[in-house]
Parts: sequence; C-alpha cells; structure tokens
Amino acid sequence: MIGALVALCILLVAFATPLSKAPPVVDYPGAQWAPADSSNYTVSDREEDGLRIRWIVIHDIEGTEASCINWFQDPAAEASSHYVVGYDGTVYQMVAEKDIAWHAGNWDYNQHSIGIEHAGFADTNYFTDAEYRASAKLVAFLMRRYNMTLVRPSGIAPVNPGDGSGVIGHDQVPDPRDPQLGGGAGHHYDPGRHWNWTYYMSLVNEYYDETQEFPPKTDRGLLDPLLSLPPILVAALIFVLLILVGVIAFSIRAVLRAGHPLGKDTTSTRSQLDPRLKAECACRSADWPPQTVVPWSQTGLFR
Ligand SMILES: [Zn+2]
Repeated sequence: MIGALVALCILLVAFATPLSKAPPVVDYPGAQWAPADSSNYTVSDREEDGLRIRWIVIHDIEGTEASCINWFQDPAAEASSHYVVGYDGTVYQMVAEKDIAWHAGNWDYNQHSIGIEHAGFADTNYFTDAEYRASAKLVAFLMRRYNMTLVRPSGIAPVNPGDGSGVIGHDQVPDPRDPQLGGGAGHHYDPGRHWNWTYYMSLVNEYYDETQEFPPKTDRGLLDPLLSLPPILVAALIFVLLILVGVIAFSIRAVLRAGHPLGKDTTSTRSQLDPRLKAECACRSADWPPQTVVPWSQTGLFR
C-alpha cells in the first residue's frame, strides 16, 4: 500500500514539476525570442517578489530593429528593453518580463515598467502602420496581464512610479535627480513629436477587448500557488494527502465490512442492532446450512 502511494506520489511530482518549472520562451505569444546579453539587464522575479509592473515606456531606436537587437546583444551596451517592434510589425522579446530591463534612465521606473523600442527616429516620421498596430496589440496584452490603467497620462510621470500607471513615452519618465525634467537621467525625448499618440492609444483600446483570453497574471486560479511551491514540498503535500485518502478508504472499508451480513459476525450483535439484518438472516436460514456435497465416488457412477 505504502509502496503504491510512494509510486503515485513520484508520478504526480514528475507531472507537476514541468508545469511549475517550465517558463514560456516568450511572455507574449506574438513575439520572437531574441535575448539581450545577460549583462544588459537585471535578473528579477517581478510581481512574484512584490515589484509591481505599472508602466509601459515607449521608445524609438534611432535606427532599425536589427541595429537595436545587435546593440542589446552587445555586452558593451549596458542597455536593453523587453520588446523591440520592427517596421514590418515583427515583435521581438529581448528580456523576460519578470526581469528588469535598462531602458528608462530611472531605476525606479525600470523596476516598475516594461520598455518597448520601435524602429524609427524621433525627428523623422518613418513609423509604419504595421508597427503601430503590432505595438498596440502588445500593449493591450500587457495592460490586461498586469492590470494596468488603460491611459496615457500627459506630462512628466510621478516621481514615485507607485503613484500612477499607464503608457508613457520615454520623454515622460522623470529625471531621478531633477523630477521636473523628463526623459530619465539622459533627458531623452523619444519617441518624439511624430509618434501619433491619439492613433496609437485608439488602437490599444481597440485591441484591449480582444485580449480577454489572457487572464491577468496575478489571477492564475487555485492550482498555481501549489505548482509554484518547491517540488519537494509539493511531493510532501501530495504524500500526506494520499495517506489521508488511504486512511479514509480503510475506515470506510472496515465500516462496510463490519455492517455486511457476510462478515465474520453475522448472527449476534449486528442482527440485534439492525432488524433488516435479522430478516435477511432469517430468510437465509431456510436453506442453511447448504446441502451436503456427496463425493463423486459415492454417487453411483462407478459403483
Ligand atoms: Zn528611449
């Protein structure tokens, strides 16, 4: 019995472990994975460790998507973003959403945001419709996933990223040393005056309704807390649960046996307690004991 329980326990852990340990290669189903060099971002466990994701920061590359990917894959860059959107609408993921990309020029905002780079230039209107649409679809997905506010606040964002939420340009990230100024520490002004915010946010709103199939990350159902536990703890819990089920099953079996008329003690105590048992025993007594079986040698065949 114990052996069977242990075997079942091992099987369950074997199935549960891949579910709890295998992260998706990309967080956004529409993205291609193009990892940044590991020296260009900070490994973290955002949301799980209490660091809430509250902002999306929109950037432009001042170049093509290929130049951006090459740069973030270069250990000398000391910069990265979670996503890069190309002119043709291809979305590349370079940093896992749980990790902290270095894009805002403000550590507090890096900690609480997701950065998206776009092929193009702040001073030239090269942004394409495919790019706007692909980016808006991604942002709608992220807003749904992290329960972010579906707005683009105007002006410089609050000093404390915990005081607000929404989609902003890099130019709206406060300078940590002088929060009256935007663009982070480097005073960047991307995505620039050609980025069509009205059109972009109308697309985000449009796509938001189509993201209902993606539940918020913080609401993952009842099973997830169990699957996120260390496998050894999951194994222990399952083992205890199986022991309990075994004990209950044995108890039920014992009770059924004790109350069954074919049990060991059919005529005394139980028949006194339950008149139905008495009746059954009485009926049976008509042909009880069973007829004696005559050995075949005595039946006359060979006699
Ligand atoms: Zn930027």
